[in-house]
Amino acid sequence: MPRTVVITGGSGGIGAAVARLAGARGWNVAFNFASNAEGAAATAEAVEKAGGRALSMQGDVAVEADVLALFDAAEAAFGRIDGVVNNAGMAGPPTTLADIGIERLRRVIDVNVLGAFLVAREGVRRMGTKHGGTGGAIVNISSAAARLGAANERVEYAGSKGAIDAMTVGLGREAIAEGVRVNAVRPGLIETDIHVRSGQPGRAETVGAQTPIGRPGTAEEVAEAVMWLLSEQSSYVTGTILDVTGGR
Ligand code: NAP
Repeated sequence: MPRTVVITGGSGGIGAAVARLAGARGWNVAFNFASNAEGAAATAEAVEKAGGRALSMQGDVAVEADVLALFDAAEAAFGRIDGVVNNAGMAGPPTTLADIGIERLRRVIDVNVLGAFLVAREGVRRMGTKHGGTGGAIVNISSAAARLGAANERVEYAGSKGAIDAMTVGLGREAIAEGVRVNAVRPGLIETDIHVRSGQPGRAETVGAQTPIGRPGTAEEVAEAVMWLLSEQSSYVTGTILDVTGGR
């Protein structure tokens, strides 16, 4: 029976790359997106072309009902859930914390922290053996910003990803009691639209060139790490954070 992965934010970037790779490895893929229906359709098509089955739906990870709807739809379409990739995230334009307004602060925390915690909680509720599931794996997408701090750019984003790291360590030790491994991938500078959306289109290229490896990473390189943590090949790994940063 093919396994099923639920991915948040699959309409582009890292989430779409994970969806494509999961599809190519025979997984059913259920994913959501915020507003980019065209991107979502392209991801669904790519998953099916690669050999998997896809389900996509619009939804906001910061809204509990939307998160529940995604998991419900995945279970209805594919039976049980075996993996969750907690990927949806956002970043604002560069600024200092002193200049940030309450709306941005609230939105970044709502999407990157509240949303990720809701999705992780739901993953344990659906996959955990004490909750009637058969076990599984959660992979959280953090950021190197969690340890670098993102001074003069987005300290609040760095803090939101620090929360993901703490949750990964704690939940990784908690949920393993019911067969759910929880780990995180901490990407560095990856070429995706997030840099355009946050007002720094050339950032991955410019800062990526200054990393030890000398270039930005690709969403596909992140997806390989995510798929390893989702798979049985990482069966002894939980509560771990894996840097995919080119040495940065
Ligand atoms: P991206 O290209 O901007 O893609 C973000 C994805 O998340 C899109 O599918 C977007 O949907 C979705 N999304 C955003 N807000 C959402 C919400 N409230 N509810 C549901 N879906 C939502 O970004 P990315 O670079 O692939 O980033 C993916 C993750 O990696 C994020 O958590 C980000 O913080 C992290 N990360 C990225 C980098 C990097 O350099 N790219 C580095 C470190 C960490 P729409 O397309 O519909 O808006």
